[in-house]
Amino acid sequence: MVSPVITRFAPSPTGFLHIGGARTALFNWLYAKANGSRMLLRIEDTDRERSTDAAVAAILDGLTWLGIDWDGEAISQFERADRHREVADALIASGHAYRCYTTPEELTEMREKARAEGRPPRYDGRWRDRDASEAPEGAPFVVRIKAPLDGDTVVEDHVQGRVTFPNKDLDDFVILRSDGSPTYMLSVVADDHDMEITHIIRGDDHLTNAARQTLIYRAMGWDVPEFAHIPLIHGPDGAKLSKRHGALGVEAYRAMGYLPAAMRNYLARLGWSHGDDEIFSTEEMISWFGLDAIGKSPARFDFAKLENLNGHY
Ligand code: GLU
Repeated sequence: MVSPVITRFAPSPTGFLHIGGARTALFNWLYAKANGSRMLLRIEDTDRERSTDAAVAAILDGLTWLGIDWDGEAISQFERADRHREVADALIASGHAYRCYTTPEELTEMREKARAEGRPPRYDGRWRDRDASEAPEGAPFVVRIKAPLDGDTVVEDHVQGRVTFPNKDLDDFVILRSDGSPTYMLSVVADDHDMEITHIIRGDDHLTNAARQTLIYRAMGWDVPEFAHIPLIHGPDGAKLSKRHGALGVEAYRAMGYLPAAMRNYLARLGWSHGDDEIFSTEEMISWFGLDAIGKSPARFDFAKLENLNGHY
């Protein structure tokens, strides 16, 4: 029987494995294991300037050190660009996307006009219903999604609840750039669909993206996966976790001599509650983990707690 759950971890390889990324990976891994199922790994290496092989190695290494494994080979998103372009073509053919020949100068003008009128800077849809034959011969174009002009897109999220986005706020966003490269919004949907991902567990900085991605799923007639957007990690002072709070990379903790079991246990408790117990075996974590127990407010990274926990192992 095909398992009803497939999760994924989809890091961008632009640096070390961040504590927040490690927690996302762990939650995906725990959820897959809790369902006797699989977690896949996709390397989102489409930003060719910032993605490095060293970062890919650091991420794989960090996951392995934490005891988080993945099923099958890691998939490179960049290598799937032809498939992403194929999806863009299908969206144009079905009338859900269009070629937009608006020039950079026109876009600047549009933005400035919106600013002067106190409106959010949105694309004004001037190529929505025009035919490509009206464009100058050989002119560069991007491909945009035709977002519905009215109504709402609702994201049912396991952590955030029901979140409603007015479609007019989603804008006719770009799915293919003028150099033919797919944007994150398109690649992620095509990949998650093709990889048969059922549950997308990631940071809540991607919540608005979930609404835009839902538009693409619907336009393609694909099932929308389940979402769980986890609140980002904050420092002990309540501000978003940053360098001034201390080390942010898993590798740094490893170098300081922290044990992977302590780190794993600590990360599992960041934003997920299960009674007052502090120390869990991996088997206990797997059997107790559930998306509905992830809190809605940001977890605070407490270095003293991690230190304390490390002493128990
Ligand atoms: N590559 C994205 C990131 O590292 C994650 C995208 C996703 O999970 O959909 O933030």
